[in-house]
Amino acid sequence: MMKHTLFTPGPTNVPPEVLAALGRPIVHHRAPDFDPVFKTAREGLQYVFRTRNPVVPLTSSGTGGMEAAVTSLLSPGDKAIAIEGGKFGERWGQICKAFGINCVIEKIDWSTSATPELIEKLLRQHPDAKAVLTTHCETSTGALTDIEGIAKVVAGTGAVLVTDAVSSLGAEPLETDKWGVDVVVTGSQKALMLPPGMAFVSVSPKAEAMIQSAKSACYYFSLKKALKSLAENTTPWTGPVSMIVALNAAIELIRKTGLEKIWERHTRCATAIRQGCAALGLPLFSKSPSNVVVALTMPEGVDASKLVKTMRDTFGMTITGGQEHLKGKIIRIAALGFVEEFDVLALIGALEMALLRQGCACEAGSGVGAALKSLNTTMSI
Ligand code: PMP
Repeated sequence: MMKHTLFTPGPTNVPPEVLAALGRPIVHHRAPDFDPVFKTAREGLQYVFRTRNPVVPLTSSGTGGMEAAVTSLLSPGDKAIAIEGGKFGERWGQICKAFGINCVIEKIDWSTSATPELIEKLLRQHPDAKAVLTTHCETSTGALTDIEGIAKVVAGTGAVLVTDAVSSLGAEPLETDKWGVDVVVTGSQKALMLPPGMAFVSVSPKAEAMIQSAKSACYYFSLKKALKSLAENTTPWTGPVSMIVALNAAIELIRKTGLEKIWERHTRCATAIRQGCAALGLPLFSKSPSNVVVALTMPEGVDASKLVKTMRDTFGMTITGGQEHLKGKIIRIAALGFVEEFDVLALIGALEMALLRQGCACEAGSGVGAALKSLNTTMSI
């Protein structure tokens, strides 16, 4: 028997209270019993999204939420701008292509993220663009984007700002209303501490107006239909009732701690991981690192896939490797969702042992020592 912990940027560990909620008897989605459950979920989602806008729940993984945003906002032939700084930025372009949207794809170095200046330049070049498609945390590289700054640039134009916050919502500060982000997409299996299977999409009045006038190429993923049902406290199709019950349990836990405190914990844990890994000789991959997932460049002689395998199969801790051209070059570690400070010490300890087993010249205890020192200065208790 081995205890398994996920240190991945999704799916993440699910707390016992949420697992127990998933096991409750099924309530019919059109029965009066479900009405207060769904209302609580709608309000809870507004709490985590920091918005008064409606937040649409969808039965799909995060990509379904991205597809719903593109196809509901834009009509075939419309122009959009997407930033490709990793796998998930690339996905915006691929969704647009699949639905006949004219997408201007701006490729940037995968170790960087889009700046407000870049978006301003692109919008000047393409004043007819109807949407700017961004990625808050690019999970494939660990990079965080300045969505607050980008929102200021987009606000003065006719375009809507759409942000993929699938991995970041609930882990990094994201102020949907204060910053003025029109559409925010997230998924259940990340900081919300639920199993995979749901996406959530917030819609501002500016975005809703665009949705109402679009000649959308969508049916099941129509945000227009979903918003109409949401106003009547329901879903257009059979909702994932057990997941919604579990969502309420998860948001109750989030509310108990407080979103700001949770953001702080993610910062603390990611900082400790960065410090521990720096002491082990693993440099950061991204120049704008997030607290969602830490991407580390593998030094010469370290086999990344062997490291991931040892961590998982020998020590029971799942981390991930790189994707596409970063395969074998980086590893990615996330203390996302239901992970605490002392879990990070165990993780760095295991990583250190896995590196020592590959013949790395790191000094035993140096990584754990650095992570511990970091936590000791940042933990208030
Ligand atoms: N965007 C980002 C930033 C993600 O991290 C992920 C999931 N790793 C997705 C989109 C896609 O979500 P899903 O796999 O749930 O469809």
